[in-house]
Amino acid sequence: MSDSISSAVGVLKKSKKTIALTGAGVSTESGIPDFRSRDGLWSRFDPMEYATLGAFKKDPAKVWGMLTELIAIVDAKANAGHFAMAEMEKTGILAGIITQNIDSLHQKAGSMNVVEFHGSLNSFTCLHCESSYPLDSILKQDMLPTCSQCQALLKPDIVFFDEQIPSSAISQTQDLVHGADVLIVAGTSCQVVPAATIPSSVRAQGGKIIEINTEPVFGGGPAIVLEGKFSEIMPQLLEALL
Ligand code: NAD
Repeated sequence: MSDSISSAVGVLKKSKKTIALTGAGVSTESGIPDFRSRDGLWSRFDPMEYATLGAFKKDPAKVWGMLTELIAIVDAKANAGHFAMAEMEKTGILAGIITQNIDSLHQKAGSMNVVEFHGSLNSFTCLHCESSYPLDSILKQDMLPTCSQCQALLKPDIVFFDEQIPSSAISQTQDLVHGADVLIVAGTSCQVVPAATIPSSVRAQGGKIIEINTEPVFGGGPAIVLEGKFSEIMPQLLEALL
């Protein structure tokens, strides 16, 4: 066992409440590139032009040019890291996950208490009449998905750059963060606010950070850094804990 894994195990064994914050890096090994990488979505679609509510309202068909590619991620499969995190919850070590991802891979792996901070592709809404549609009904349509009531193009229930985080996600996050003394931060560059402020909230209440990342962003100090791939580190951490 590496020194850093044994330090993490020591901290986790003493913890009264451990939670996790995850980002795009936990899903790269499931075949979903992070959006900022060389081949990522934002290399082909400027997010300010394609991932804002303003852009969608102005020209929904144009934004669907990007969404048609994005929606393919619903076929991705959870990796060993997602499964290890789900097991951590089942064994009572992990109280819940706040994910910035919209791919639902934590739930596919069996995690129960997951806050989808930036929404998900599981449902779609008509911005005109507010009718809601499940993903299955969207996948059945050959054409771009339209509302059966008013024929407007539907928007996935993901949070675009100029949108507020849903109030339900904020309150669920506050509940999870409350009393947490350990935060596992995995596969996120912690650049997107307000999710990026969660580590400092946990630290402000005396909590510790365990970071899993191929290119760690916290480094030393108050964080225990487990440098490496999520799909390899998480199962190692779980095995060492059990
Ligand atoms: P990011 O792209 O800014 O950062 C990804 C981080 O993961 C980096 O620090 C990188 O070093 C690390 N990483 C990459 N591969 C890894 C691996 N195999 N193991 C461990 N670490 C790895 O991602 P972010 O911080 O989540 O912010 C991007 C935003 O875009 C999020 O808000 C999210 O909503 C969205 N997004 C979602 C998905 C998804 O649903 N899978 C994918 C891309 C982007």
